Amino acid sequence: MDLETNKESLDQRVNTAAKRVNRDPGEICLLAVSKRQTAETVRSLAVLGQQSFGENYLQEALEKINQLADLALEWHFIGQIQRNKTAAIAENFDWAQSIDRLLIAERLSAQRPAKMDKLNVCIQVRMSEEYGKGGVSIDELLSLANAVSSLSGLVLRGLMTIPENTRDTEKQRQSFRRMYGLFNKMRSQHASVDTLSMGMSGNFEAAVEEGSTMIRVGTALFGSRN
Ligand SMILES: *Cc1c(COP(=O)(O)O)cnc(C)c1O
Repeated sequence: MDLETNKESLDQRVNTAAKRVNRDPGEICLLAVSKRQTAETVRSLAVLGQQSFGENYLQEALEKINQLADLALEWHFIGQIQRNKTAAIAENFDWAQSIDRLLIAERLSAQRPAKMDKLNVCIQVRMSEEYGKGGVSIDELLSLANAVSSLSGLVLRGLMTIPENTRDTEKQRQSFRRMYGLFNKMRSQHASVDTLSMGMSGNFEAAVEEGSTMIRVGTALFGSRN
């Protein structure tokens, strides 16, 4: 695995996709998804200038955060959030992208230590009813966003989605487009909203073309996970 080559080729592909639709590539943040990667691998990527990392599994993440405390990294929790995990997330992460119910948001807000900056959060949206990978339905989104935006320990930054893993690229683009529409609606209602987190290794170019502001990439950076 050559991290530097992978990173360069990823940056290149993001730039090309952005240029195709006249977007400034600088608007698109790369979140490196480091689940199942070692702290040393994260460190090697950090040395190349990567600052933001996403983790799905709390215990694994806490060990890495601890081992890498000497670096100024930004940690995003992107896995499902169970209620007994909220305190550790509130105390150790900069972002939680996978908010899917008010109870979880309320606990994160109450448990965020006062001496830390507010916790940045995204609401996870489930794009299709039959696809059950977590998140709120589109119908529930705007009312949950209103409730979350009033919580004092959190800053509502935007939306996150995991699209259905389909070979039907037109269908996938349609979901990305609908997400972008929801993002604009939320942005018009909440000044703090600036993030549309969508796009993974298999589909980040389409996501960038459809308005994503943050892609979450694991495999295309680190190679396949064990
Ligand atoms: C694992 C994961 C990713 C990265 O997936 P790749 O296909 O390896 O790029 C992105 N987002 C979430 C929520 C994930 O769980």
